[in-house]
Amino acid sequence: MRVTLLSYTQNAERLCAAAAHSCYSGSGASELMQEEDEGRIERRLRAPLSAGHHSVIEHAAFTFSIEGISRASSHQLVRHRIASFSQQSQRYVKMENADYVMPESIGRDEEAASRYRELMDRIWEEYRFLSERVPKEDARYVLPNACVTNITVTMNARELWHFFELRCCNRAQWELRAVADEMLRQVQEVSPSIFSNAGPPCVSRGRCPEGPLSCGRPRNDLRKRGGLGVSAGSEKD
Ligand SMILES: Cc1cc2nc3c(=O)[nH]c(=O)nc-3n(C[C@H](O)[C@H](O)[C@H](O)COP(=O)(O)OP(=O)(O)OC[C@H]3O[C@@H](n4cnc5c(N)ncnc54)[C@H](O)[C@@H]3O)c2cc1C
Repeated sequence: MRVTLLSYTQNAERLCAAAAHSCYSGSGASELMQEEDEGRIERRLRAPLSAGHHSVIEHAAFTFSIEGISRASSHQLVRHRIASFSQQSQRYVKMENADYVMPESIGRDEEAASRYRELMDRIWEEYRFLSERVPKEDARYVLPNACVTNITVTMNARELWHFFELRCCNRAQWELRAVADEMLRQVQEVSPSIFSNAGPPCVSRGRCPEGPLSCGRPRNDLRKRGGLGVSAGSEKD
């Protein structure tokens, strides 16, 4: 699996701060964008965000290429509706080779792994047979959840906060959690003020909302205090 941050809003913090402050200023965002004082930029962002006006970080967008994840995992990714997706089509692209994800739990068990590989080889054999006779869009019905796919995804910073809360959580499925962890690492590099406190609720809010379903293992590995202290939470404007 490979995650690449393809493109992102330059000066995301400055842009969101200018947009936020334009609500309360006689000046327009074009003038406010000239602001160079980092402390002022941070204060202009912190105020609306701590008041729950999270729409101001929707102005910053981030686009990733996610390659080699399973269809099982991409199906969960595309449930996030406030995002844009472009996914490799099994109607047009022939899945020539047996490219699939093997879960670690299966790989650790020698016999299970061997049966799994045999099954995948057999599935692809039938797929290739079918795709010589019927359209690819019909042959693909035999392909498994494990089949890999490539997908391009764009989310704004607010949606990314929400996505990280759900998918960096230990309760999330392991493969999508690995994708989300890597996306978080990459956006923290380019927009540290916006994302340094992002992550599952045990990181972003300092508490777990899962009640009896809580894993009881806070993700301290993701804790990077020091950003804007945005809590995407469940507050709505
Ligand atoms: C651990 C885990 C287990 C899961 N198990 C299941 C399962 O068993 N079955 C299953 O079907 N799904 C399951 N899901 C998927 C889950 O129910 C959501 O579909 C998915 O996480 C997307 O979340 P979302 O709707 O909050 O996010 P998004 O679609 O990204 O939306 C972001 C936010 O925008 C708002 N929003 C978006 N669309 C609407 C709308 N139409 N109306 C009102 N507000 C809206 C909401 O505030 C929402 O939280 C699971 C998810 C997780 C993390």
